[in-house]
Amino acid sequence: ADIPTAAISRLVTYLRILEALEAQEIDRTSSSDLAERAGVTAFQVRKDLAYFGRFGTRGMGYTVPLLKRELVRVLGLNQTWNVVIVGMGRLGQAIANYPGASDYRFQYVGLFDVAPELMGREVRGLNIRHMDTLRDFVAAQGQQRVDMGFVAVPPERAQDAAQALVDAGVRGILNFAPIVLQPRTSELSGQQEIGDEWRGVIVENVDFLAGMKRLAFYILNPHLRVTDTE
Ligand code: NAD
Repeated sequence: ADIPTAAISRLVTYLRILEALEAQEIDRTSSSDLAERAGVTAFQVRKDLAYFGRFGTRGMGYTVPLLKRELVRVLGLNQTWNVVIVGMGRLGQAIANYPGASDYRFQYVGLFDVAPELMGREVRGLNIRHMDTLRDFVAAQGQQRVDMGFVAVPPERAQDAAQALVDAGVRGILNFAPIVLQPRTSELSGQQEIGDEWRGVIVENVDFLAGMKRLAFYILNPHLRVTDTE
């Protein structure tokens, strides 16, 4: 069955709630408890979880550590993810310095930029490298692989930065620039086709200005806000 992306976002929220419950040494929860804490309906919680299996016992609810472990597994957070950041300006440096990613097995393995004044500068134990060395760097990781690349360059450079990541073999992109990345098309016998290097590449966008725009709209039009639909 197709799983709505909103359901995956909610799984991430449920996991955060389960972590908070575990920190409070609360051992049991239920779909209605999770629903209340997540701001959705109990039906929604059950439906979201049902995409991935049967986790609770009917009428008994869920064991917090067990459900947490299952969600960690479903989301792939029990494995190591090697990450490079492209663009080490204000945002890139803030991201690299934020310790939250290491709660899970996300590891920054490389930091890249083009500005001469940033070359070699150390951020959280890693030296900033030049973009020209990205491809060799990724190749040299070998089995360890680079799983994700963050794009934190100015919008007008973002497409090229993403292309460089994809050309280097990085299959997952978290794009912080406020543009829609386009998979490069290759011209084959007059037909436009998506370049092979983009096949299977997953792009996620993080755009806080988009959030501000939605917020502005909904502050002006609160009656148009419908939540919990998928
Ligand atoms: P910034 O100007 O501080 O940093 C951008 C960095 O990218 C610079 O160090 C620059 O040398 C580098 N760069 C330029 N071209 C490059 C290339 N081809 N390859 C590698 N590095 C390159 O900008 P910022 O404020 O960090 O913003 C970065 C991106 O994130 C922008 O697209 C911006 O819209 C977005 N963004 C920023 C913020 C924020 O709070 N700063 C918030 C949300 C989104």
